[in-house]
Amino acid sequence: MEIFGANVFSDAVMRARLPKATYDALKKTIEEGRELDPNIAEIVASAMKDWALEKGATHYTHWFQPMTDLTAEKHNAFISPTPDGKVLMEFSGKDLNQGESDASSLPNGGIRSTFEARGYTVWDCTSPAFIREDKNGNVTLTIPTAFYSYNGDSLDKKTPLLRSLEALSKQAVRVLRLFGNTTCTRVIANVGPEQEYFLIDKKFFEARMDLVLTGRTLFGAAPPKGQEMGDHYYGSIKERISAFMKELNEELWKLGISAKTQHKEAAPAQFEIAPVFTTANIATDHNQLIMETLKKVADRHDLVCLLHEKPFAGVNGSGKHNNWSLSTNDGQNLLDPGKTPHENAQFLIFLCAVIKAVDEYAELLRISVANPGNDHRLGAHEAPPAIISIFLGDQLTDILMQIKNGGKICTKESKEFETLRVGVSTLPAIPKDNTDRNRTSPFAFTGNKFEFRMVPSSASVACPNMILNTIVAESLCQIADRLEKATDFHSELNSLLRELIEKHERIIFNGNNYSEEWIAEAKRRGLPNIESMVEALPYYISEKSIALFTKHKVLNEQELHSRYEILLEQYSKVIKIEAKTMIAMANRLIFPAASKYLGELAASLRDIKAAVAAANTSAQEETIKEIADTLKNFKEKTTALEKMLEKAASFEDAYDCGLFYRKSVFPLMEELRFYGDKLETMVSAEHWPIPTYAEILFSI
Ligand code: ADP
Ligand code: MG
Repeated sequence: MEIFGANVFSDAVMRARLPKATYDALKKTIEEGRELDPNIAEIVASAMKDWALEKGATHYTHWFQPMTDLTAEKHNAFISPTPDGKVLMEFSGKDLNQGESDASSLPNGGIRSTFEARGYTVWDCTSPAFIREDKNGNVTLTIPTAFYSYNGDSLDKKTPLLRSLEALSKQAVRVLRLFGNTTCTRVIANVGPEQEYFLIDKKFFEARMDLVLTGRTLFGAAPPKGQEMGDHYYGSIKERISAFMKELNEELWKLGISAKTQHKEAAPAQFEIAPVFTTANIATDHNQLIMETLKKVADRHDLVCLLHEKPFAGVNGSGKHNNWSLSTNDGQNLLDPGKTPHENAQFLIFLCAVIKAVDEYAELLRISVANPGNDHRLGAHEAPPAIISIFLGDQLTDILMQIKNGGKICTKESKEFETLRVGVSTLPAIPKDNTDRNRTSPFAFTGNKFEFRMVPSSASVACPNMILNTIVAESLCQIADRLEKATDFHSELNSLLRELIEKHERIIFNGNNYSEEWIAEAKRRGLPNIESMVEALPYYISEKSIALFTKHKVLNEQELHSRYEILLEQYSKVIKIEAKTMIAMANRLIFPAASKYLGELAASLRDIKAAVAAANTSAQEETIKEIADTLKNFKEKTTALEKMLEKAASFEDAYDCGLFYRKSVFPLMEELRFYGDKLETMVSAEHWPIPTYAEILFSI
C-alpha cells in the first residue's frame, strides 16, 4: 500500500497540492475533455515541479508514442541559468503543456517533409504524470503527451486513440438516452491487456546475432523437447524468475500500475503478466511502461525479455489478450447482462452493436493486429487464425437465435413490462458469467467484456483499441439514428435487433477456431481470411475505411495514408533486416563452422581409412557426404537470398515492395533456414557457433 502509486502525480497528490479551484478546474478538463486554461497549467506545472524536485528529479520529459510501438522522449533539465552564474529550477505552464521537437527521423509516412520537420508534443492531462528512476539514480518527471505535426496531423498512436474514445462516448450516450438514462455524460472504454513474454539468459541472447538484431531466432533446430509435456504452463516459478517478478511488480506498483496476475505460459521460458483493467488511454500508457519495465528489470537480473511474437519456431509465440468493455461514468458496465428485462434490452443492443461492428469491419480489426511478427502466429494453431469471428457461448447465441425467430425483448415501453418485471419472461434470463471459455476464438465474449486475442505481444494496444472504439462508435451511431426516429421505440428496437442478428450472425462461431473445418466454413460464410500484414493494409485506405475514420474524426485521409505507408515500410524493413541478418549468420557463422567440421572429418578420414581398410566405407564418409550436400544447398539458398534482396531494392511503390518481401523474400528465408537447421543437427556441438534452442529455452 505504501509503494503503490508513490511515483505518480495522482489524483490524490493533485488534491493535496493544488488550490481547490485549480484542482476542480483541472478535474473538469480531464472529465469533460475541455481545453486547458493556460493559467491553470501554470499552477499545475509549479505544483508538479515541486513534487518532482522533492522526489529528486533533475529533468522532465514529454513522453510520447510515435508510430514505432515504442515510446519516445527528450529530456530537459529543470535548470535555468541566472545572471550571477547560478541556476534556478524552472518549469512553466508552457513547458508542461507543449513541447517542440525536431523528430523528423521518426516514422511519418510522408506527413512531414524535412523542411517542416517540427513536431509538437501536447500534454495529455487525462493520463497522470509520473516519475521514472533508473538504477543510476537519474530521476525524470515524465509527462504523457500526444504528438502532432506542424499542421496538426497526428504522428502518434495516442491522438487517434483519444479521438476514438470521444467518438465512442458520444454515440454510446445517444443510445443510452433512448433507454431513458439522463444522468450519464460519458461512456468509457476499459482495457485490461494480458502481456506474454519470454525470458532468456543474457549470455545466450548476446551470442545470437538474430536475437540481438531482430528479436527472434532466424535459425535453430527443434530441440528434443518442446512444450509437448505441458509442464511449463502454470508451473511453479523458480527463484531466479520470482526474484525478477518481485522487482518488476514493485517497479510497476510505484508507477501506479496494478500488476496483479503472473504465471508461466505454455512455451518453455514463456510467462505472462496482467494488470487490473483501467480506462483505455491509461491502460495503453501502462502497457507501454510494462513492456519497458520488463526489459529494464530483466537486464538487472542478467536476463533478456523477448517481446517478439515468435521468438522461437516450433513453440508458442506471444500475444496480448486485450480485454475490452464499456462503462458509463455513473458506474454501469454496458456489456454486463442486466438483472431486469429492461437492462437486458440495453445490454443486447450494445452486444449487437459490437457484433455488427466486428462483422462489418473485420478487415480493419485484422489491420489493427498486423505486424510482421504476428504473421507467424495467426493461424499457426497456437493463436487464433487470421479469420475474425466472435465467440458468444451457447446460451447467449441461443437467446439471439430466439430473438431472430420472433422472440420479443421487453422494454419499459412494452405492454409486457409489468409482467416481465415480476419474473415471467418470454426469454430466459441472460447468464451472468460465461464460464465456457473458448480459447481458440479471436474475439470472445467473456461474461461482461470482450477478449480480443489477436493482439501482437510487442505492439502498442493503442491501435487495436482505437479501431475497436471507432467501429463500435459507427454501429452505435447507426443504431441511434434509427431508434431516435422511431415512433414506437419498443417495436422498432425489437425489429432492429432481429435485423442485426439476421444480418451479422455469420460472424458468430462457438466451435474450434483452430480446425480445418472452420477455415472452410468461414469461407462459405464469406468471412475474410487475410493471411499477411501486407495483404491486410490496403483496406486501411479503402473508401469504406476513409469514410468511417473521417466521419468520426479519428483519422483524416492524410493520416490514414501515412499510416498505410508507415506500416508497409515497417514490414519491408523488418523482413529486409531479418534476411540480411540471416545472410550474415549464414556466411560468417554457420558456413565456416560447418566447413571447418567437414574439413576435420575429412582429415581424420585418412587415418580411419587405414583402420577400416576392409570395409569400403565408414560412418565419417557418409556424414561427410551428407554435410557436404546440405552445405551446398545452404550456400545456394544464401546466394539466392542475396540476389532476391537486390531485386527488392528496385521497387518504388511501398505496397509492391512489401508484397515482394512477403511473397518472394520471406519464403526463401524459410528455405535457407531449413538447411541451416539441418546442419545444426549434423555438426558437432563443439563446432556449432550459436546457442541452441535446448540451451536457451531450458536454462530458465
Ligand atoms: P485470463 O487469462 O483468465 O483471461 P487474466 O486474469 O490473466 O485472465 O486477465 C484478465 C484481464 O481482464 C485483466 O487485466 C482484468 O483486469 C481484465 N478485465 C476484467 N474485467 C474487465 C472489464 N470489465 N473490462 C476490461 N477488462 C477487464
Ligand atoms: Mg491470462
